[in-house]
This record gives sequence, C-alpha cells and structure tokens, in this order.
Amino acid sequence: MATLTLSTLDKKYGGFHAVKGIDLEVADGEFVALVGPSGCGKSTTLRMIAGLEDISGGELRIGARVVNDLPPRDRNISMVFQSYALYPHMTVAENMGFSLKIAGRDAATIDTAVKDAARILDIEPLLERRPAQLSGGQRQRVAMGRAIVRDPDVFLFDEPLSNLDAKLRGQMRTEIKRLHARLGSTVVYVTHDQIEAMTLADRIVIMKDGRIEQVGSPDEVFNRPASRFVASFIGSPPMNMAEATVTRSALHLDDGTEVPMPPAFSVAEGRRVVLGLRPDDIYPEGHGIHSESGHAVERRELPVHLSEPLGNETLLFTEFGGQSWTARMLNPRAVKRGEALRFHLDLSRAHLFDADTGLTLR
Ligand code: ATP
Repeated sequence: MATLTLSTLDKKYGGFHAVKGIDLEVADGEFVALVGPSGCGKSTTLRMIAGLEDISGGELRIGARVVNDLPPRDRNISMVFQSYALYPHMTVAENMGFSLKIAGRDAATIDTAVKDAARILDIEPLLERRPAQLSGGQRQRVAMGRAIVRDPDVFLFDEPLSNLDAKLRGQMRTEIKRLHARLGSTVVYVTHDQIEAMTLADRIVIMKDGRIEQVGSPDEVFNRPASRFVASFIGSPPMNMAEATVTRSALHLDDGTEVPMPPAFSVAEGRRVVLGLRPDDIYPEGHGIHSESGHAVERRELPVHLSEPLGNETLLFTEFGGQSWTARMLNPRAVKRGEALRFHLDLSRAHLFDADTGLTLR
C-alpha cells in the first residue's frame, strides 16, 4: 500500500515556522496537487516527504510505516525536479539506470527497466545521448523516466513543467496524466499553475502561510471554495469581489450600488460581507456560458473599459461596486472601448464571504 499520511506535520527553520502542523491523507493511487502563493510551504512539505528536509514535528507515514527518520533512499520515493537534475556526463540510459546501479542491481535488470521506461515515455532513440544534446521537453521526459525506473511507492513532482514553453507544458501535462492512468501510482505534485492542478489532480490542496486552507476535488475548490482566499486563488481570471453591507433584502455595496440578496443565503442585517462573482457569471446579454432560465439575473448597464479578444471568447474589463470586474463574453462580437453594454449578473451563482474572517457564508 502506498498511502501517504501527514499528521500535524511541522517545519521550523530556526525561529521561522514554515509548515504549521498540517494533516493530509493521500490514498493509494491518488494524484494530489499542492498549490498556493510563493512561500506558503508547498516545496518544504514535498521535501519533508522526500526526506530532503528534517521534520520538526508530527508524523509522516508511507503505508503503515513511520518514515520521519528514514533517509531518502529507504523511502521508496521518486522525485522529479523543475531543474531535471540530470548528470551531464552520463548518457540518458545511464542517468535513468543510475539509482538501480547504486542499489546494486545487475546490468540485465537495469537494462530491462530502462528500456521499459523509455518505451512508455517514447524516448528509446535518445538513450545514448547526453543531456546537453536534448531539448527541454526531452530532458523532462528523461527525468520522469529516471523516476519511473525505480518503481517507487510514491512520485513527487516539484514544478516539473515550469521551465518549458506554454505549448510543451500542455503536451507534457497530457503525458503526465496518461502516465498516471497507466502506472496508477500515488502522486504529490507541487505547482504554481492552477490549470495543471485542475486538470491533473484528483484532489487539490490549497496552502497559505504554512497551513492548509482547503482540500477538495477540482470541482469542489472551484464551485465551493471554503474562503475568499481560495475563491480568488482558484479560477482564471480570478473571481470578482466587492465589499458590501447586508440590508433587509439587499446587499449595499460600498460605492452605493445595491443588488438583491443572492438567493439561498441567510445573512443577518448589518453584517459586513464580500460579494464574489466569477467572470463566467457576468456577461453581456445573450453571450453567457450558462442558460438563464430560472436564474436570479440582475441586469445592469456597465461601461467596457478594455476588451481582450481570445478567439472563441472575449474578456471584458468593466467596473462594478467601485471595483474593476472582469466579464467573459462567449460567441463574442466586436466591442468598442468605452461602449456601455447590458450585462447580466447571475446572482444564483454568487458567493458571499465574511468581510473579517474571509470564510464562506452559506
Ligand atoms: P515557492 O512557490 O516560491 O517555491 P513554496 O510554497 O514552495 O514557495 P517553500 O519553499 O516551502 O515555499 O518555503 C516556505 C517558507 O519557508 C518560505 O517563507 C521560505 O522563505 C522559508 N524557507 C524555505 N527554506 C528555508 C531555509 N532553508 N531556511 C529558512 N527559511 C526557509
């Protein structure tokens, strides 16, 4: 079993508390992505799992085994780094087989394992080359090949695609997904790229200041964010927000605008809240993603300050509640700068957060 269990896992660098007692259970064969702003503790967590960083407190288990004090080589874990970390003087085949050689396996076993991995990753013709003779994408494949060869219980990825250009990143993302489907291994994957997290992971862990803000499926963290922080971190462009005070049946936004209380919320009068609406849920009439029947749609004439055509959709930058808001227009038509459009705000899809704690209100 390759279950991975983090129990109140803690990391202090001298006086600095980088990871503050996090709990997480990764199931056998599960793909979990760690995301969060720079410095939130993603890499430190991954490095503690790998054994590259001492654990200050709590417990780390792989299967039933507590591995806190086990050296990296005894954890049966493979890590793929952003920098690829290939040995420049070795061929691709030697790089891939190196860990098995160190472990004392015989040449025939190593040769078979390397060739199997090379076949899976489609790099058989490259086996005799050296890293300097490879493209970035090929190097990344070799780094993954080296990880596969060890047949680990757990794969750890630390931003493996961030050195690649956008197109290659997309291709390698598909590759990693295919690989996971084929190998069925347990994966912990650190990334800055929320599209990577959303498309690859069974569950996403959103971290902030050394703590876990929310753990959930891509659908949960996108549609039911636990806090304002998660809501603004997941989703691109980010969720639109505006602060408001709750009146008897409405939200009084700070610039004096009023909108009806979104349905399904029951919030006390006078409470300070933040209204959140995704760019998908504000759109010019007739250009929305969702069908409108039965929705609580608020209609407003708003000026378009800027538009960004993206082919099948256009992002429109407008202003609402005294804030810059982004709207997504499907099946776009040309929009002139400064033109006022009739926007639909679908309040049935609105989010409300407590203005002080940032927690989601229901
Ligand atoms: P990024 O996305 O920028 O890589 P991260 O979420 O992976 O960020 P970590 O690298 O885990 O962040 O770092 C978490 C915090 O711990 C940061 O504030 C960082 O400055 C601090 N930190 C990391 N390594 C050390 C170290 N060796 N000594 C002191 N502080 C450290």
